[in-house]
Amino acid sequence: MPRLSEVIAALESLWPPERAEDWDAVGTVCGDPDGEVTRVLFAVDPVQEIVDEAVKLGADLLVTHHPLYLRGTTTVAASTFKGRVVHTLIKNDIALHVAHTNADRADPGVSDALAGALDIRVVRPLVPDPTDPEGRRGLGRVCELDHPLTVRELAARAAERLPATAQGIRVAGDAEALVRTVAVSGGSGDSLFDDVRAAGADAFLTADLRHHPASEARAHSPLALLDAAHWATEWPWCELAASQLDEISDRNGWGLRVHVSKTVTDPWTTHAASNPTNTPGAPN
Ligand SMILES: [Zn+2]
Repeated sequence: MPRLSEVIAALESLWPPERAEDWDAVGTVCGDPDGEVTRVLFAVDPVQEIVDEAVKLGADLLVTHHPLYLRGTTTVAASTFKGRVVHTLIKNDIALHVAHTNADRADPGVSDALAGALDIRVVRPLVPDPTDPEGRRGLGRVCELDHPLTVRELAARAAERLPATAQGIRVAGDAEALVRTVAVSGGSGDSLFDDVRAAGADAFLTADLRHHPASEARAHSPLALLDAAHWATEWPWCELAASQLDEISDRNGWGLRVHVSKTVTDPWTTHAASNPTNTPGAPN
């Protein structure tokens, strides 16, 4: 049975913390390095319902993509949302470890898992990591479709293959345009438009696209935008990460039981479709 410190060392070999962005807060949030680990749960968000799930499962270690605390705090009182998470974890002897932008930039990383969920072929990183001589690590991925799809078909595939959310997939652009090259980036991708254009992508699949960056990106370009729920674009990474840890466990004879949370932590829960005839200026 491995110690927490050994499992953390394995996780850090997959996602070295020094490869995270400067503003990020990755690594171990709580946990006793000498504690034994038998069961691990992977999830996107370190929220109370996920921690409750870890307790129910009997997990010793919860690994999440999103940090619990991104900035310093002066309280972990259980009367606060995050403090309650900390209390539940420590009372139940569960460690929390975060792999965020270091997992985004890894090879394979979050966007490889997103491309894999859609069964599309990754060619290279969208924003290569300059410290990687092989050019395989970095943010986002540029993918080629062996059989071109229309924007509509690509959106339908994303809607079909990604976990279900209230949002589904929002599309900007000509739905009948053909897509051969698609850029993908798990999580919020609207800082990457320049890189997407430079990559010559016909479409960009990401999340959290806002009005102004999206309308500017569309203004002088045929680039189609596919916007999914943030959680849905990152959840496939949990399965990838769990399989990577499983493999390490097998290699070391650790016998870890590795689980992926199926709990939907996308904050948006219901979608109301507009009345298509209710357009400004339309007769009523
Ligand atoms: Zn995210």
